[in-house]
Amino acid sequence: MISNKKSSKISGFYKMSVSERIEFVKDFSDLTEEDVSIFSSSLDIETADRMVENVLGNFELPLGIAVNFIINNKNYIIPMATEESSVIAAASNAAKIARIKGGFTAECSDPLMIGQLQLLHIDDVAGAAQKIMNHKNEILKIANDQDKILVDLGGGAKDLEVRILDSPIGKMIITHLIVDVRDAMGANAVNTMCEALAPMLEELTDGKIRLKILSNLADKRIVKAKAVFDKEKMGGESVVDDFLESYTLAAIDPYRAATHNKGIMNGIDSLIIATGNDFRAIEAGAHAYASRNGQYTSLSSYYKDKDGNLVGELELPMAVGIVGGAGNIHPKARLCKKILGIKTAKELGEIVASLGLAQNFAAVFALSTVGIQKGHMSLHAKNIAVMAGATKDEIDKVSDQMIKEGKIKLDRAKEIIEEIR
Ligand code: NAD
Repeated sequence: MISNKKSSKISGFYKMSVSERIEFVKDFSDLTEEDVSIFSSSLDIETADRMVENVLGNFELPLGIAVNFIINNKNYIIPMATEESSVIAAASNAAKIARIKGGFTAECSDPLMIGQLQLLHIDDVAGAAQKIMNHKNEILKIANDQDKILVDLGGGAKDLEVRILDSPIGKMIITHLIVDVRDAMGANAVNTMCEALAPMLEELTDGKIRLKILSNLADKRIVKAKAVFDKEKMGGESVVDDFLESYTLAAIDPYRAATHNKGIMNGIDSLIIATGNDFRAIEAGAHAYASRNGQYTSLSSYYKDKDGNLVGELELPMAVGIVGGAGNIHPKARLCKKILGIKTAKELGEIVASLGLAQNFAAVFALSTVGIQKGHMSLHAKNIAVMAGATKDEIDKVSDQMIKEGKIKLDRAKEIIEEIR
């Protein structure tokens, strides 16, 4: 049973004007006029100046919306900030195919992040490691004293793990502080706790603390997404087989896996940026996780169900927040979270993974059938026309002509402009 009445399914969305699209989003997500005004406004310079150093202005990216999504039986429209053409259309198309079989299902684990404390210059590392574990409750208490808000929300430091690593500079003890960060991304929260623990761990072990910082390999905070893609809509079972052949290369070869996973991140980063989250953290976590078995491989996997439909699954770490960080400050990030209607970081993570799977399906589907360039070319041709100096009225004529001729090149665009002027 679908839990919300308003459908995210809409045909010909791309043909609408910008104001018609905004009207659809306003209605879908119950936006106010004030919310709508944010679409065309820029981050004010004082806010930007408080966010980073040496500010000169703002750097804008296009913000679009992917439609047609059903995730965990709920309709979603998904804001995406990206400079790359075709990405938003591809996600919307994949979501349209996925919804035939009920859309995406996704599940995020508890929001457990890992903080690392590196201890050096210890003679008896095994004894020191044991000492740390013997003082676990005391250590967790000091960590939790740093963030009463988190603890009151049911989160906070929950556990300790101790690893002994050999290195060219000698043995070191790496203490992992496991923190439930609730609806935050958690980097600041975890780093504050790690720094507060440093003196106590040094005293306890007679060692020297060097690093005390979050790990971006958030492998205790995992999201999984799954969808079934209808074989008939894909063009028949032979197309599913072609798809699986293409996917297999990503499973066995890092050269292909890197591009395959980049396709996943096309979707994921766009939403991570739109919600003001830390896209470097998500990227680092994803690629480290893709190498967890010793060889870099695909983050997604595909197989056929008993009826010959394609089943896709995606699994990756998901350090996203809906409180804290830039997402709280940036008006467009706040608006994007309102468009999604999310109440928890877990829900955001489930949307992020579903979008990543949609994006990945769309790319491999295109690659194993018509090729990726067909979808890319129309917007690419428009960009080339603009680069060649086409005016607003000339852009479509120039790009249509180049596509017709199969020659999407700057010099040809310039010639066409001369011909039509
Ligand atoms: P934050 O410190 O701004 O917000 C988190 C705090 O908000 C919590 O500690 C808690 O006290 C409070 N809070 C209120 N309501 C909460 C709720 N419902 N759930 C959880 N906490 C709640 O941000 P953060 O999430 O700790 O850190 C994120 C920021 O840290 C990002 O901007 C990121 O770019 C940056 N950062 C990242 C790294 C990295 O390695 N990836 C390193 C340093 C900083």
